[in-house]
Amino acid sequence: MKLFRIFLLFILSSTLLFSSVTLLKKVELQKGELRLHFNQLYDKKQIKHFTLKKPYREVFDIRNCRLANRKVGKSLSSSHCQSIRVSQYKRNIVRVVIETGRYYSCTPYKPLFSWKSYHIPLPKFNVKKRKTVKKKSIAKQKKSVNKSKKKSPYLITVDKKQISKHKKKELIVIDAGHGGHDTGAIGGGKREKDLVLQIAKRLEKKLKAKGYSVYMTRKRDKFLKLPQRTRIADRKDAKVFISIHANSVPKRSRHKVHGVETFFLQTTRDAKSQRIAARENRAVLKGAGSKLSKQVIVDSVLNGPKIVQSNKLAIDVQRRIMTNLHSRYKGVRDGGVRHAPFWVLVGASRPSILVEVGYISHPRERKRLFTSRYQELIAKGIAEGVDNYLNNRRKEIDF
Ligand SMILES: [Zn+2]
Repeated sequence: MKLFRIFLLFILSSTLLFSSVTLLKKVELQKGELRLHFNQLYDKKQIKHFTLKKPYREVFDIRNCRLANRKVGKSLSSSHCQSIRVSQYKRNIVRVVIETGRYYSCTPYKPLFSWKSYHIPLPKFNVKKRKTVKKKSIAKQKKSVNKSKKKSPYLITVDKKQISKHKKKELIVIDAGHGGHDTGAIGGGKREKDLVLQIAKRLEKKLKAKGYSVYMTRKRDKFLKLPQRTRIADRKDAKVFISIHANSVPKRSRHKVHGVETFFLQTTRDAKSQRIAARENRAVLKGAGSKLSKQVIVDSVLNGPKIVQSNKLAIDVQRRIMTNLHSRYKGVRDGGVRHAPFWVLVGASRPSILVEVGYISHPRERKRLFTSRYQELIAKGIAEGVDNYLNNRRKEIDF
């Protein structure tokens, strides 16, 4: 729990430090990387990284940021890119565009010992530069650039066919909590690890039916260490990470507390969220405690998880679960969306949520949870929520 205190302090101090506008002082090419240097510590959450196609380019929007002067990022040229552009895209957004013309795996990072910098590795391949164009076509180009500037500099139209093609490739990671010697919560002789695996399998079927690829962190009753749960999501470039759990309270309040809750990773002062996180974190910390270095904490909590996106995903999933359950059952409590520092979500650098599908300690809810009808509705709700979230996300990105 000492780790926790360090990490809370860290979050508090960082919010204070990041309050004023960040200045981008210098952009340079060094050792095959594009290096951005800011005037102060920045928050990686300020940087939105995405790609655009035709021609292929990596785009970085740095929020709450201004160019220190007009010269920053001018006349950068590398044999590994068609072009590198740095501009004040909006009043408080600096945009960096790396045009390579073809895909490469771009994994930018904040270097460990220079927290005012952001490094973007460039591709290893060389690109053929466009031949110098004749004067006439330069004039034409200028015209068309001006035209498109008026609309949006990166306007791309995407047809519906393309969207469904995208969808087929999108990978969802489903993580059934606990397993093996770690039973999770127990109520009335029933075990959390069995329940969540049953629901995970139903969810797998539903998502596949919707055209997604699915990876299950476990398909049977076995114990997994923390890194095993999230590593695959990062390596396989999953779109979403969903961890499934069931909740529990001590005996004296077991008749009072019930309902569905969805969490995303963030520190919180909410005592209830902290209690649930502490309970779910126990096994994970036991399994991998020594390996959780300071770097893991820094990387994943400050830089990694896409908190805003995770929050949106959580809202969609929670809403759809409740709609489905309420259509057939009375008295299911909507515990809402909350945030809590779950270790299982740490390290998954993509929208990640943890669904507590119900209270195994509550007699009536436990009975329902172990019926296929109830489980089906939960799985359907999660699948619809994920689909809804990703549909919206596709619209946002393919502007
Ligand atoms: Zn659990």
